[in-house]
Amino acid sequence: MKVLVINAGSSSLKYQLYNMTDESVLAKGRVERIGMDSSILVHEPTGGEEYNTVSEILDHTIAIRRVLESLTDEKHGVMKSVDEIDAVGHRVVQGAESFKESVLVDKDVKKEIRRLFDLAPLHNPAHIMGIEAVELNMPDVPQVVVFDTAFHQTMPEKAYLYAIPKVLYKKHKVRRYGFHGTSHYYVSLAAAEYLKRPLKELKVITCHIGNGGSLTAVKDGISVDTSMGMTPLEGLIMGTRSGDLDPAIVPYVMNKEELSIGEVNFMLNKHSGLMAISGSSSDMREITDAMAEGDANSTLAFEMFEYRLRKYIGSYVAAMDGVDVIVFTAGIGENSAIVREKVCENLTYLGVKLDPELNKIRSGDPRRISTPDSKVEVLVVPTNEELVIARDTYKLIQK
Ligand code: ADP
Repeated sequence: MKVLVINAGSSSLKYQLYNMTDESVLAKGRVERIGMDSSILVHEPTGGEEYNTVSEILDHTIAIRRVLESLTDEKHGVMKSVDEIDAVGHRVVQGAESFKESVLVDKDVKKEIRRLFDLAPLHNPAHIMGIEAVELNMPDVPQVVVFDTAFHQTMPEKAYLYAIPKVLYKKHKVRRYGFHGTSHYYVSLAAAEYLKRPLKELKVITCHIGNGGSLTAVKDGISVDTSMGMTPLEGLIMGTRSGDLDPAIVPYVMNKEELSIGEVNFMLNKHSGLMAISGSSSDMREITDAMAEGDANSTLAFEMFEYRLRKYIGSYVAAMDGVDVIVFTAGIGENSAIVREKVCENLTYLGVKLDPELNKIRSGDPRRISTPDSKVEVLVVPTNEELVIARDTYKLIQK
């Protein structure tokens, strides 16, 4: 039983082929620069050599065709025929209130994802291109969509509504949705398994911090609050996103700088965050390297990033009236010992105690980085959104 997982963006596409018998990855790769000159396909068969090709890939249909060719290539392939793929699972960013869980793709599902284009103009159209490209290449293979927002559909009204006229929610569905749900779900469950305790009995704060970042409060096994909002702009300071700010800044800056809606949106999403404060990089590795060399702007960017993150942890302790486990995941959460150290250094009022040696260890497995007498378990859990998509896809096609 083989499942192909696709994460389609507007000009790129990532894939992983799973053997569901043992949940092993047979191959993975990506296509970049779709629709541009010199598109690149990078294919990595597990245990084999990475292989790159540069060609013209005009659209997603051709991109999927090239992926299938790579997967069945005589030299670099991992299967004999495309017929061996039993199902395809797609990541979809915005499912809004329409999708509380993963579903099989049909005409109505596609129509609904299209109806949500307004809420995710950069993502959902690309996902539809990915789904239709698979349809054209493999018309008889069932497809499943897995939503970044679905895990957060359990948030109560008091957490998801904004305090603005309710008509905006009724008419335009303006509310908080949250993102990275697949990751928060996966790491909260993996943390409970690691601790050999039922997730339902734990209060968990999951910190997914990569280029984009969000925190989730998981109580009774469900998401009760999360830091991203109607769009991924709310919450933490991120690589190039501002995170929370006074909404009155938007019209003020538009007026002073004569910016359009598009321009101010671009500024807050692409020219803010770590990038804006450091003035040099959106990448945490470069920020911490520059900080070690005494760069004042990078130091300030780091301090603001860590401070916002720590304040959110504090607010979720308040939201759940306690915390048993704090989980770090994604690029920064999994790799940056100094971010974890600085955050935990100032959580002493919770009884958090980090073991500095355990914090330094690198490993691809879930691990504890707190001391035995720490009142809160602090874990690093590598995320695996693709595996959740593969599992959901497999489960749904069995039915
Ligand atoms: P995305 O949101 O794009 O999926 P990732 O989860 O890949 O992002 O995270 C990217 C971030 O992780 C970057 O800021 C990068 O600097 C950081 N990162 C990756 N490896 C390390 C490392 N070894 N030390 C510190 N930060 C790291």
